[in-house]
Amino acid sequence: MNVSITFDDGNMEQYERYLPVLEMFGFKATFYITTSQIGMKGKMGWDELRGLHDNGHEIGSHTHTHPHMTMLRPRLLEDELAKSRKILEKFGARSFAYPAGDYDKRVVDAVKRHYESARTYTDKGFNTSGSDPFLLRSADSDMLGRLRDREWAILVYHGPNTVPRAHLAAWLLRSKLHRSARNRTFLSSIRGMAKGNEISRDDAMGIRGFEEVCRTIKDMGAKAITVSQGVDSVLGGKP
Ligand SMILES: [Zn+2]
Repeated sequence: MNVSITFDDGNMEQYERYLPVLEMFGFKATFYITTSQIGMKGKMGWDELRGLHDNGHEIGSHTHTHPHMTMLRPRLLEDELAKSRKILEKFGARSFAYPAGDYDKRVVDAVKRHYESARTYTDKGFNTSGSDPFLLRSADSDMLGRLRDREWAILVYHGPNTVPRAHLAAWLLRSKLHRSARNRTFLSSIRGMAKGNEISRDDAMGIRGFEEVCRTIKDMGAKAITVSQGVDSVLGGKP
């Protein structure tokens, strides 16, 4: 049994509150970073990312500006992937997570040119040796009781306060000043975040709930692995 704990959006709260819990259990996690937001208010900066990487956690990409990718023109789609990959190069980023779980065939094909795997958000289930590495399913922690021997569950966390309200207001204002396609998609993703459509059921349980989930993973005897370790060992058939 394998479980990956993943964190989206690079929120500082993940570093300050969730990382100590991971350390208490000796678990390594995967952090999907939106690269244009590195060092912004409420977000992790370079020191935090370096600290995670040096301690064996995985750094993956969550695009450059967190757009709804299916709405992007080809050139912008490519930009979002290439820019974030370049920025995260020093951390050897190999895995990707679709913002808001939004993808189609065109998006998946583009992601394949830059990364080795990709995690979905709204597609719930477990992964096995036959799973598509670019359509990795995610799971809610209350599904863990059904996890079987060779299966792999990927949990998703954002942290309770995804983006500070004042920050969202500033972004909204800035986006409204521009009318390019890029800003329209950016705007819609901010609206989505403001409405909280990226807050999962597990997020809602807070840090206490997260501790419980870590204890469950340990008690189940499941292996806590990063997403790329899962791709190598569960999908790639490596031990
Ligand atoms: Zn996100």
